[in-house]
Amino acid sequence: MAFIEIDAVHKSYGNTPVLRGIDLEVEQHQVVTLIGASGSGKSTLLRCINALEDIDGGEIRVGGEVASGPGTDVDRLRRDVGMVFQHFNLFPHMTVLHNVALAPMRVAGTPRQEAEERARTLLERVGLGAKANSLPDRLSGGQQQRVAIVRALAGGPRALLLDEITSALDPELVAEVLAIVRELAEGGMTMLLATHEMGFAREVSSKVCFLHQGVLLEEGPPEQIFGEPREERTRAFLRRIVEAGRL
Ligand code: ADP
Repeated sequence: MAFIEIDAVHKSYGNTPVLRGIDLEVEQHQVVTLIGASGSGKSTLLRCINALEDIDGGEIRVGGEVASGPGTDVDRLRRDVGMVFQHFNLFPHMTVLHNVALAPMRVAGTPRQEAEERARTLLERVGLGAKANSLPDRLSGGQQQRVAIVRALAGGPRALLLDEITSALDPELVAEVLAIVRELAEGGMTMLLATHEMGFAREVSSKVCFLHQGVLLEEGPPEQIFGEPREERTRAFLRRIVEAGRL
C-alpha cells in the first residue's frame, strides 16, 4: 500500500475544473515531483492532500486512512503530513524558535521545554541555531524557508508536501534550500513536491509526474520523463524549459 493514494480526484473552482481525475501514488521513502506549466494544478493537488482545499470527487488516503471528505481528522492528517509553501508563511511577530515550537505545543500538546529543545536541535541541523531568537524578517529568504522546512519537520511528520518552495527566492539562495531537501531525501523522507527546478527534480526524484490542465498526462522515472518523454505535450513543456535555460 502506498503512503499517499490519490484516486480519481476532481476539483473545480466555481465552473473551472482544476483537477480532472488525478490518480497518483507516493510510496514510503519516495520523492515524487510534480512538474507542469503554471496553472496546471500542482499547487491545488498538494493543498487538497493537506485538506487546505475540499475535493469534489474521488478520494485521498494517507497511511491507509481516508484523508478527504467529512470525517477526516485534519489535525492528525497535518501531523502526519507537513507542508512548506512558496511564501514561507512564518508568523512575523514570533521568534524563529517560537515559529518552530508552536505547532507541536498547540496541536500535539508537547510541553514547551521539550518542543523548544527539539526546535533548537532542528534549527542547528540546518545551520540556524544562532537565529533561534530572531524575528523572521531579520533572516534572508533562504534562511526563512529553511525555518519553514524545520517547522514542517517539528511535529515528526511521516511525509512532506513542498509547494514550489524555491520560487520566491533570489537565485543565489535556492541552493541552500535545495540542499536541505536533498538531505531529507537521502534520509528517506517521503516527499511530494511541485517545482520548476528541473535539474533538481531530475536528480532527487524517484518519480516525476507531468500535469497538464488538471490531468496527470505522464509519469515515470526522471530519466524517462526528461530523456524520452512519450507525450507530445510533455516534450513541448520541456522544450520551453530548455529554451528558457532552466534545464
Ligand atoms: P500550479 O500550481 O500548477 O501553478 P494551481 O493549482 O495554483 O496551479 O492553479 C490551477 C488553476 O486553479 C489555475 O487556473 C488557478 O488560476 C486556479 N486557482 C487556484 N486557486 C484558486 C482559487 N482559490 N480560486 C479560484 N481559482 C483558483
